Amino acid sequence: MVLADLGRKINSALADLNKAPVIDEKVLDGMLKEICGALLASDVNVQLVQRLRTNIKAAVNVQDVGAGINKKRLVQKTVMDELCNLVDPGAEPYKPVKGRANIIMMVGLQGAGKTTTCTKLAYHYQRKGWKTALVCSDTFRAGAFDQLKQNATKAKIPYYGSYTETDPVAIAMEGVDKFRAEKFDIIIVDTSGRHKQESELFEEMKQIAAGIEPDSSIFVMDGTIGQAAEGQARAFKEAADFGSIIITKMDGHAKGGGAISAVAATQSPIIFIGTGEHLHDLDRFEARPFVRKMLG
Ligand code: GDP
Repeated sequence: MVLADLGRKINSALADLNKAPVIDEKVLDGMLKEICGALLASDVNVQLVQRLRTNIKAAVNVQDVGAGINKKRLVQKTVMDELCNLVDPGAEPYKPVKGRANIIMMVGLQGAGKTTTCTKLAYHYQRKGWKTALVCSDTFRAGAFDQLKQNATKAKIPYYGSYTETDPVAIAMEGVDKFRAEKFDIIIVDTSGRHKQESELFEEMKQIAAGIEPDSSIFVMDGTIGQAAEGQARAFKEAADFGSIIITKMDGHAKGGGAISAVAATQSPIIFIGTGEHLHDLDRFEARPFVRKMLG
């Protein structure tokens, strides 16, 4: 179930409340069944769905709620709060600091939209007045440097990479050193998303991180991958210990459940969502407006 349908389903379950003359156990259970079914169909992890259900039932104890309290509003507010909790782990993401180089390392599987997102993020900071540069340390994929170069040129962002150097750690360190010496504020390092073996990919990420000592690592995840999200996010968290997440392709057929499960599995906040292929298609993520928009 795609995100817009999930929103519609939840909305219709909430609207059914208004039709019911009284909110009793049966009405509440009926609504929860609808909402939980929709979340599961959107690939939200089953334990998370169960927790949401338990939390709502506990918060809206139909027998205990005093006569003066508007039960329908209470139920609606609780559902909203719980949906927000699903996408908000309550952790503060890294904020760049003025007056020194802030090194940001991007990790994620090939095809997730990492290279595109690197430029979008650089463009975002550049527009906010930060002196920003890009480094391509992906030596595995032929054409990775050309892609970054093309994007960076379009966005007028300085970049660094190599056609001949095969050691990604060396390139990453050279690029970071160069831009640090040139007093750049934000240096975004793109890494490889594929290797012959996954273990090699993770090993390479660790070596790059040890070499450039990033202030923040960001995990870029494809918003359309559904159930695979949880395992993927967990594996990258263990290998790269990223601090935050960017979910891409939220304009397409994103189910949303993947995003929710990735947050829950890693307790890391989503900071942006990708909403298209163009440079400015990057929206800051905030839980409440996101849920509100989902509900239409
Ligand atoms: P990488 O292999 O992770 O570096 O992925 P790329 O940056 O090359 O992106 C893979 C494909 O996804 C490209 O065709 C991008 O244009 C596309 N893409 C990336 N982000 C988004 C997004 O937010 N929305 C849409 N619709 N496409 C995206």
